[in-house]
This record gives sequence, structure tokens and C-alpha cells, in this order.
Amino acid sequence: CEKCIARAARVKELNAFTTETHNIAKKQASASAERQATHATLPLDGVPVAVKDNFCTKGIRTTCASHMLESFLPPYNATMVEKLLNNGACLLGKTNLDEFGMGCGSIDSIYGPVRNPWNYHFVCQSLEEAGLQLGSKESHSMTYSQLKARGIHMSAQSRSKVLRQTREAEKMTEDVHCGSDWYIAGGSSGGSAVAVASGVCFGALGSDTGGSVRNPASYCGVVGFKPTYGRLSRHGLIPLVNSLDVPGIFTRTVEDAAILFNHLGGHDVNDSTTVSDPFHKQDLPDISIKDLCIGIPKEYHSPGISEEILNAWKWAADLFEKAGAKVIQVSLPHTQYSIVCYSVLCCCEVASNMARYDGIEFGYRAENNESTEELIAASRHYGFNDVVQGRIFAGNYFLLRQNYEKYFMKAQKVRRLISEDFQKVYSKKVDILLTPTTPTEAPLYSWFSEQDNRTRTAEQDVYTQPVNMAGVPAVSVPVRLSQAGLPVSLQLIGQSFKDHDLLTVAKWFE
Ligand code: GLN
Repeated sequence: CEKCIARAARVKELNAFTTETHNIAKKQASASAERQATHATLPLDGVPVAVKDNFCTKGIRTTCASHMLESFLPPYNATMVEKLLNNGACLLGKTNLDEFGMGCGSIDSIYGPVRNPWNYHFVCQSLEEAGLQLGSKESHSMTYSQLKARGIHMSAQSRSKVLRQTREAEKMTEDVHCGSDWYIAGGSSGGSAVAVASGVCFGALGSDTGGSVRNPASYCGVVGFKPTYGRLSRHGLIPLVNSLDVPGIFTRTVEDAAILFNHLGGHDVNDSTTVSDPFHKQDLPDISIKDLCIGIPKEYHSPGISEEILNAWKWAADLFEKAGAKVIQVSLPHTQYSIVCYSVLCCCEVASNMARYDGIEFGYRAENNESTEELIAASRHYGFNDVVQGRIFAGNYFLLRQNYEKYFMKAQKVRRLISEDFQKVYSKKVDILLTPTTPTEAPLYSWFSEQDNRTRTAEQDVYTQPVNMAGVPAVSVPVRLSQAGLPVSLQLIGQSFKDHDLLTVAKWFE
């Protein structure tokens, strides 16, 4: 815990945290140490973790990175937080995100953008290999092309070595400086992904509505697991789209994700959408890859896919085939409607969820008290950013009586079709689907921040979004580094409530 707190100071520039709770973590760590002395340990004793700032934490600011909740101190813990703490974990802080989880870059936050630690690690390693001095000011701002210009190359083998080494990241002692441009962390749970990737903690909670755990995990080179809808409790997770939101897990390895999942899963009386059948903790067994059938959805060969991602995808399919698995092409024909369907459903639920922030009962209250209407308008105008306001407007439009059938009901029907695509594929003996997580490696901030929020979501969430529509589990696993020194990750999608089977395959594949 102490090492991780020291590490946090060195990577502050990445802006992963909205609130640091180091003093609380230290107390929790001493309590763990005391338990250890009496041999009455808890399963997660002393494990440093971080939690996305849209999970309620008792007496600790929970802001959703929004002015609306800037000073909100929840009177209770979200069930996921309660379970982490009851199992002995130490909470290092709350992590940065896009306001209310609306975004895929972690750049739309009142606390400013989160920065991806890559290709910083890559640069350090390249310098070391080339016998140059680590930690010099010059080295921190060097990019891959600058290194190449100096004749510094890295083999594919040494690149994946770097990726594995980051699992020891808390031992790194250099300060991180990002310079004037950097790669985005992905989002909306970018702070949690960066906290794990930069060595500040070993596990973190995020929330995944359309890809918000898997997308940043993919860009930051860590494992990002979205369990089956209904397996983990949403009680105390401030909602974005209730029917799609799932608490998700970031870790350095698949095995760590399975450990956290085992301690977090199960029915919760406070969340009626959690399933009531008993949840069994399981160790990940060794499996025979020969018995597996891996599906490759043909619709996921979208035009914007990068060469690096495509190569990694082919390589992974070959890997399964060489190990004896059956690899077949499958079709998920309604994939193309997922983004537009999401944009209707998301806005409708957002319009409804955000109605509570009126500046009177909940959230920021403006000074303007000329009339109740003006007070509400002024509070919401300052409290929400443009993205949130835009979605509220769109949602209220879709929900107007004359539009309800045309948009909301139609989107619900399309959602059913998207979900049925997955069921059909799985009923034909396919065990797992193998796809990219994102179409490209992490984009540069300077480029990404020029795009509008809708375009970003349409481009970023194509492979992750349909999974939420179907409620099935999926995990993003880093597989290699690109030429530019950025993580390249792939997604494995499993069957509803077969979360452990999915993680078992992911562990083999890792
Ligand atoms: N990018 C999507 C959005 O902006 C999904 C976000 C999420 O999964 N929380 O709504």
C-alpha cells in the first residue's frame, strides 16, 4: 500500500484521480496488518484498489466528474465498494471519468482529461535498451518516431515483454511527464484503467454501459472485464442507462479479475436486477482448448479498423486454431444498428435519470432564486456539461407522446434483435466470440478532442456496444504493443452467466 501511494505521487500528471484517500488507505492497511498478526485475515487484505467516481462512497466525495455533484457526500457505500472493503481491500481514491460516464475518452470531466501512461513506458524501455539514460527530461517527451529517427527499434518480442513488465509497474521509480500532447486513456472509466496501468493499484472498479470498462482497458494495456448483466450489484452506482449499466473490473491479469469477481458477485436485496440464483466462487480451471468453438463475427470487419488490430486479431484466431480449437466465421446481422439504437435508449434513460437533479432536492443549487423555474434552469445549466444537456434534450424529444412509438419502442425492438443475434450464434455450439475491443490503438488527445461526442461514440463503441445490448459477459485482454508503442487488445465475448468459463479462456489466451 505504501509503495502504491508513493507511485501515485510520481504519476499525478496522468490525472487518474478525482479524490485521493491515502489516509483512509493507510488506516485500512494497518488494520489488515493487525489481522495478519492474529492470523484472522480477509481475502483481499492489504490490496490497494481504486473506485470510479460514480460509485457512492460513504463520507467520501462522489462527483461523477460533474459540477452537479461536486460536493456530494453519500451517506452510504455502493454494494461493490462495501464488498471490497469488507474483504480487506484498501481504497486509494476515486477515479476520473467522463461526466456521468457519458463519453469514451475520459476527457469531458470538470477535473480535466485523464492521460494514458503509454507510450511513456515504451520510451523508457527503448532508451534503456539503447543504453541511454532513463529519467532525463528529454526522454520523457520523446515519441516513437523520434526514437526511430535516432535509430532505436524494438522487436515485437521485446514489445510484449514491456507489456508484461508493466504488471510490476509499482516498482518503477521515474516521474511521469506527458508534455503538450498525449494518448487518451479511453473511457469513460479512464481513471480506473490508468490507476491500474500506471502501477498505483492492483484492481479498480469501473462501470460499463457501452464499453466504458473495455475501451479504456484496451487503450491502457490492462484487463477489463464486464460481467453478465445482473451478476454484480448496481446499488449505489449512479445510473447512466439502468438497463445496460454493469459494474466492471480492471486488473493487471485475468486471474486477478477472477479473484475480484469472486468477491463481488452475487444477489443483492438492494438491486432487484441482480439474479437470485446462488453465485459460486470458482478458481479458474485448466481447460482443453481443443473442445472449444470460437466464433469470428464477420460484421466486426469494419472499415475503420487499424492494420495493427487486424493483424493481432488474425494472429489470435490462428493461435486458437493451432491449439486445436474450431474457429468459424459467424454472423451478427443487427450489429450495424447498435450505435443508433443505443443513442435513442441512452438518451431516454438519461432524460429520466437526470430529472432528479433539480437543485432543490438533489445536486448543485444556483444562486438565482427569482422563481423556482429559474432556480432549476440555472442549476442545471451550470451543473451539467454540453454532452449531458444534449442527451437530456434528445431523450425528452424521443419520449414525447407523438415520438414514443417511433423512437423509444422501435429502439427496444431493435435491441431485442441485437440480443437474439448472440443467442442464435451461441445456440449453434459457439462457445466464445473473438473480436477486437476497439477499432484502433489509443488516439492522440489533440486529434480526439477535435471530434464531437457523438462521432467519438459511433467510432469507439462499435465492438463493445452490442455486448451491453445482449447483457452477455466480455473481457478485453492486452495482447501486444503496436509499432508506436501502444497496447493492442482483443475482446472475448462469452455466454450469459458463464463468466468463469469466459475468464478461463481469457487466462489461457493472455
Ligand atoms: N461511450 C458511450 C457513451 O458515451 C458508453 C459509455 C459507457 O459505457 N459508460 O454513452
